[in-house]
Amino acid sequence: MIESVICTGCGCLCDDLDVTVEGDRVIEVANVCLWGVNKFIATKKFHSKKDRRRLLAPQVRRKGRAFDISYDAALEEAGKILIQARRPLVYGLTNNGSWAQEAALRLARRWQARLEPGDLAFMAPYYEALARHGLYWTPLEEIRDEADTILFWGANPIHSCPRHVVRYSVFSRGRFTERGAEERQIAAVDIYPTETAKFCKPFIQIDPGQELELLQGLAAHLIEGQEPPKRVKGTKKLVKLLSEASFGAIFVGRGVSYGPARKLWEGLARLVVWLNTRVPFSLFPLASDFNSVGLYHLLLRETGSPYAPDFGAASGLSSHPTPVDWREVDALLVTGADLFWFMSEDQVQALKERRVPIIVLSPFANRTTAKAQVVFPVALSGIETEEVAYRMDGLPVELQKLISTPLRPDHQVLADLEQILGGSTGG
Ligand code: SF4
Repeated sequence: MIESVICTGCGCLCDDLDVTVEGDRVIEVANVCLWGVNKFIATKKFHSKKDRRRLLAPQVRRKGRAFDISYDAALEEAGKILIQARRPLVYGLTNNGSWAQEAALRLARRWQARLEPGDLAFMAPYYEALARHGLYWTPLEEIRDEADTILFWGANPIHSCPRHVVRYSVFSRGRFTERGAEERQIAAVDIYPTETAKFCKPFIQIDPGQELELLQGLAAHLIEGQEPPKRVKGTKKLVKLLSEASFGAIFVGRGVSYGPARKLWEGLARLVVWLNTRVPFSLFPLASDFNSVGLYHLLLRETGSPYAPDFGAASGLSSHPTPVDWREVDALLVTGADLFWFMSEDQVQALKERRVPIIVLSPFANRTTAKAQVVFPVALSGIETEEVAYRMDGLPVELQKLISTPLRPDHQVLADLEQILGGSTGG
């Protein structure tokens, strides 16, 4: 049995798993949630009894049918797409390790492509607000030990990061929170009652579009000390909860990206700045993809911006806060994401009608691999190959290799693709 294994099921990167391997197979995993187990024993994320189809050989699609081909032949096919593209896009990356993200960024630069994180609309405005207000991060262990107030805003950790509530935010027992949930006030704001809402008091159910109004009400009461002109039901309960906190954290879910994300992050950051003048308070996105944070660290380090870098811009590099206009894209490389799972049927159809060629790197068959021209199967990071990832609070961790596979790691495939364009093999 291998102890203290890190799970790449979500941004919690839980580091206490016990994994039993037999030869080149994982046969048992302990201390893992149902969500994480599908990474180790190939089952579907939302249906743990259904198997996920592993990709074992590179594929090329001709006349709508997929054929297995050799790795070199797949590189050759992908090379034609790389060389012919005029407005290419590298998409996804939030479920790649950091070495793969670095390799993808090098490839995007060499390909003069735009690089679009799969959760750009959610995370980029968070980093923007973080920088504008100079907010700091708190290690999750410190939240476990000290936080007596937790607010989930449009977030359902039971669904996106299942062990977050038992390891850090709700039921966990820390140095100064020995009685776990009994020592904490847990609240949630959402547009419908989620599994998380069941243990949140208060749970503030709002109508879609009321988030900003609720935030304005909180700001009016807490920051400006006055009654807001209009008050969303539950505002006063939240005001009481926040003003009684002695150490708190707000975790925000991906749902905010379906609304006015920039204004919401700005309002939440302003609120947290004010709370911080009284007690320690932090603001976090609840990253469900395991290395979303690593990607934004990389973008900030390499381009100075959390936005989507475009290396094909006339100026050499421009960065975009808003999602790509798919009509402008003429070739796609997808890695660390299942793009077609998030796209509307109309968008998928439009790409198909324009015959936009797609190259995909993925360990498993998914909706995007089913439509791709070239598919590269890759080794699973943290199970079949070593990698590095950043936990949702920015802690870098080393992922280990537990079993062997003949499949290549994604960073190597990306480096080989870059070489076709005349790049170095990276590293
Ligand atoms: S909470 Fe996330 S990291 Fe932890 S075991 Fe579940 S899926 Fe894995």
